Amino acid sequence: MSLRSGAEGVLQAPTVTIPSETIPTFEQLGLGPDLVEALGALGYEEPTPIQRAALPPLIAGKDLLGIAATGTGKTAAFSLPLLQRLGVPGKREPFSTSALVLVPTRELAMQVAEAIHRYGQKLGVSVLPLYGGQPIGQQLRVLKRGVDVVVATPGRALDHLKRQSLLLDTLRTVVLDEADEMLDMGFAEDLEAILEATPEERQTVLFSATMPRRLDALARRHLRDPARITIAKEQVQ
Ligand code: AMP
Repeated sequence: MSLRSGAEGVLQAPTVTIPSETIPTFEQLGLGPDLVEALGALGYEEPTPIQRAALPPLIAGKDLLGIAATGTGKTAAFSLPLLQRLGVPGKREPFSTSALVLVPTRELAMQVAEAIHRYGQKLGVSVLPLYGGQPIGQQLRVLKRGVDVVVATPGRALDHLKRQSLLLDTLRTVVLDEADEMLDMGFAEDLEAILEATPEERQTVLFSATMPRRLDALARRHLRDPARITIAKEQVQ
């Protein structure tokens, strides 16, 4: 590489562009080939900031407390590690689930279940959205076969826990998505009851747009030494 003299006689080095921050790939963040392939097919070229921050600790099994709004890519940030930790699903026990995602509304339950289904299709993962207003008989039939991931509103999840049609003994990960919304909708007691029914050694993930004091109290009670992430709404890419 030779230095050349510029027009004003100043020595100039050839221009080399060094990126100020190299964005890691999904692979470098620890995702396996099946999930990386699924993301490629969906056109996800690079991880968003929340995915960059959340994937490594979540894949390592740590608890996580994330302050992030919708539109930041937070669904993939919690869903991909959850799928990675499931591995290739083995034999499913009747009424059991390995991962439970709690969300405030039926719309979000359907949306998150659909996203997890798309990401996990190659892994053969089964996902079930559970919300009020759906015929319970139909939900029971699917639950009986055992489901890898349940995405539920808290009221309906608690309903099934009480009927023993949802068993959490083998649960590995629980996610509280839009936790502030769930508290605003009056689900605080339901959330406490559900978390009480999960195994001690589970991984707990909590995402919220805001952190009111009673949510902070809930997080202190139920999360163990969590990784903490805050992503501003405009910081999407
Ligand atoms: P969310 O904040 O989870 O509601 O995601 C917002 C939107 O961003 C959804 O339509 C996702 O499919 C999309 N999305 C999430 N992560 C990525 C990514 N890494 N690259 C491109 N799109 C993404």
